[in-house]
Amino acid sequence: MDNFEVVIVGAGVLGLAAAYRLCESPKFKNKSVLLVDSEANFGTQTSSRNSEVIHAGIYYATDSLKAKHCVEGKHLLYEHLSKFQLPHKKLGKLIVAQKGEEEALSAIKEKALRNGVDDLTEIDKEQLKKIEPEVNGSAALLSPSTGIIDSHSYMQNLLHLAESRGVTFAPYTQIESVNSTTEGFSVNATLIHANKKESYQFRCSKFVNCAGLEAQKLAGKTEGVDPALIPQIHLCKGDYFSYVGISPFSHLIYPMPEANHTGLGIHSTLDIGGQLRFGPDTEYVNTQNYAIDAQKSVAFAEAISRYFPAISAQKLQPAYSGIRPKIAGPGEIAGDFEIQDRSIHGIEGLIQLFGMESPALTASLAIGNHITALLE
Ligand SMILES: Cc1cc2nc3c(=O)[nH]c(=O)nc-3n(C[C@H](O)[C@H](O)[C@H](O)COP(=O)(O)OP(=O)(O)OC[C@H]3O[C@@H](n4cnc5c(N)ncnc54)[C@H](O)[C@@H]3O)c2cc1C
Repeated sequence: MDNFEVVIVGAGVLGLAAAYRLCESPKFKNKSVLLVDSEANFGTQTSSRNSEVIHAGIYYATDSLKAKHCVEGKHLLYEHLSKFQLPHKKLGKLIVAQKGEEEALSAIKEKALRNGVDDLTEIDKEQLKKIEPEVNGSAALLSPSTGIIDSHSYMQNLLHLAESRGVTFAPYTQIESVNSTTEGFSVNATLIHANKKESYQFRCSKFVNCAGLEAQKLAGKTEGVDPALIPQIHLCKGDYFSYVGISPFSHLIYPMPEANHTGLGIHSTLDIGGQLRFGPDTEYVNTQNYAIDAQKSVAFAEAISRYFPAISAQKLQPAYSGIRPKIAGPGEIAGDFEIQDRSIHGIEGLIQLFGMESPALTASLAIGNHITALLE
């Protein structure tokens, strides 16, 4: 039976970042590391269905893992993207307040400061008109360290770095269940090739669950994990609409965040090619269905018109959607990232990640370091 030192399940951005950071660690340098994914390629799920924004770390609860890993991860990510000359742009972002929201805007600035984001500047209506003539608002916060990334190039780079340091990537490998052994874990997988399925069993000393939307399901099939420790998953869908025409903005434009920070409000982002898109909205759903209702363009236009009066539903085309693996349900206060190790579940060598929603793309290298430190 094959035996690996570490097995990482899920080649989304977090599994990839964990694999890369792990094989950079002297402790794991010459150890066998296997990264598996049930899909044909890396990054086909949530990691390629997001806004591709490098977040500054503004909104998250003080001392939360989201705040800590976002701020640290942002710096690591910019450094990494520059070092490997990967596509990204530090465009800056404006959080736009309407009349009556100015106090809430100042509260956001204070919260950001507590998170270590000290580069935000408040600007008034006139300054806003000067830098973004099409945007309507009574005041705004400018975040100069917010940017955009080409997530596919970044993930491709992480995979290349990991493979060139000895990590084996196995696509088409679905992990079914995990049993405890005296030396670690015995893993039951299904290999899927040319429509044929084959069972495959292997052993490992350390097992990392980065299965995103399937993390809870996999944890439930991992022997010895107390079901009471597995947080309930709440699927929260976010749809995007592309803007027909040239972008009138040079920054990313955000309204004030939604109550309980369920989402950041229907905002505008630009991709690396300059295409403007709006979204994501927030809709709790029961199944992983990515279809977009084109009729939503009317509600989108209405929300966007608060800060961009020239928008009309005819200018919006359904683009794509993503699903957040939230651990907080509708109306509840936003959950934090949950990274569970032995100190929580009592199982040596097991790491499980839950609730890895935004800003986990931004935070990926910091989370990769966190996982590595827990395994060392
Ligand atoms: C709408 C939306 C917008 C977002 N915007 C941003 C943003 O602008 N900036 C930001 O920083 N973050 C953003 N995020 C968050 C970010 O995209 C995610 O947090 C991140 O991609 C999560 O990566 P992951 O590796 O955990 O999950 P995934 O990318 O989902 O990867 C999990 C992988 O596990 C595999 N898998 C699952 N089960 C098994 C199994 N049993 N066996 C084998 N493989 C399995 C899947 O195939 C998948 O490839 C956004 C998220 C959403 C939904």
